[in-house]
Amino acid sequence: MRPASFVKSRKLMEKARKLIPGGTNSGARSTITRGLYEGFKVNMPAFIERGKGSHLFDVDGNEWIDYIMGFGPVILGHANPAVVRAVKDQAEKGTVFAANTELELKLSEKLTEHISSAEQVLLTNSGSDATSIALRIARAQTGRQKVLKFEGHYHGWHDWDMVGNTAAVFGTFARGMGQRTLMADGIAESALNDAIVLPWNNPELLEKTMKMHGDEIAAVFTEGYQSNFGVMPPEKGYLELMRKLTKDHGVIFVMDEVITGFRLGLGGAQEYFNIKPDLSTFSKAMANGFTIAAVTGTTELMEPVAEDRIYIAGTFNGSSVPVAASLATIKELEKRSYEDYFALGKSIMKGIQDGFTDSHVPGVVQGPGSMFSVFFTDKDKIAFTRDVYSIPQHPHIRRSAIFYQELVDRGVLVSPARYGRMYLSFAHGKQDADRTIEACQAAIKATKQIS
Ligand code: PMP
Repeated sequence: MRPASFVKSRKLMEKARKLIPGGTNSGARSTITRGLYEGFKVNMPAFIERGKGSHLFDVDGNEWIDYIMGFGPVILGHANPAVVRAVKDQAEKGTVFAANTELELKLSEKLTEHISSAEQVLLTNSGSDATSIALRIARAQTGRQKVLKFEGHYHGWHDWDMVGNTAAVFGTFARGMGQRTLMADGIAESALNDAIVLPWNNPELLEKTMKMHGDEIAAVFTEGYQSNFGVMPPEKGYLELMRKLTKDHGVIFVMDEVITGFRLGLGGAQEYFNIKPDLSTFSKAMANGFTIAAVTGTTELMEPVAEDRIYIAGTFNGSSVPVAASLATIKELEKRSYEDYFALGKSIMKGIQDGFTDSHVPGVVQGPGSMFSVFFTDKDKIAFTRDVYSIPQHPHIRRSAIFYQELVDRGVLVSPARYGRMYLSFAHGKQDADRTIEACQAAIKATKQIS
């Protein structure tokens, strides 16, 4: 085990707390600002200097194998040469012009080529932008207000998604998960009437709710393969049922592919599961770390946007540098083998699962391979977020806190959340995998101190 020093990171964090509210520009990074994981103290790098491939280098000179990958975007690895070149070339030609560029057409064409449900594409800037736009289209097209969504699924920081969904705020545990509760201050109370929140993978409840409220619901939002708050697949037939019920009740089916897009394959979760949603949202892995997002859907649904019956705008929508980055990213991904990529991930998952077995610590590793979660649990599988509910001091949570810190101490960075995930990039290699498995097995062994 190697001791990492965080002297400079800590000093900079003191300065950050003075200059930036809470010391970070995103609440999703609160573990680094608090140095707290589920109430347990953690030492971790808060300031990064640079990344290359699958590795990160922090301001204290520590090097890490990175499985956070910017929370998902960096699918080709940090500073991928082809993407960097495309960005530099485009930056020299200018960035925003308040007019179209041919690059936008090229990217839209690429997206419609790869995404089976995409006939038209609207480019925007973030996942939250994309899901906001999708809901606006759904409301305009149905004349209804409500949105049905699922516990543990995250679609952005807007009001309607801040109802009963996430444990992240204030580092509290599962505050209001699944309840008609606003998860933080400053959210319009009307959001409580806008959102219906159901546990995922529960077909009976979905059917009943659609029967009772279908004619009030504009859209059902789902992640195709749940990724937030634990990586978990849809149960057999569940997405198919969702597709059928939304059609029967005239509800727009939105598949939020902000994480799964380009991570489950070039065609996303909809290709992986062979489901055709009405609208889809993409962002993270689209441009290997540059700021871009897309809403895609049928011409019938999307066309009124162009007619200004539905108003959507954005100074930076389709701006050239991220579009160039996205085109370069997708062209690179087209050359890669997703089969090898998934296989490497599966080999790491197996190594971690073996660690649980060998150490006699109960746990499950779950995911498609390109991302996965490590759950400390007695269950054989995790089907929905409540399966990992527990009180903060539960031994499983304490074990996962030790696991996380032990990995940091061994030079491996994973998303510091019980419901978090490990993101693999195409830059991760066999050597990374071997070191990671070794570190994870040792870290699991270390959790045996908790009984
Ligand atoms: N949808 C999903 C599935 C996400 O995971 C996220 C972000 N984690 C968002 C939407 C929101 O994206 P952004 O943070 O870019 O606004």
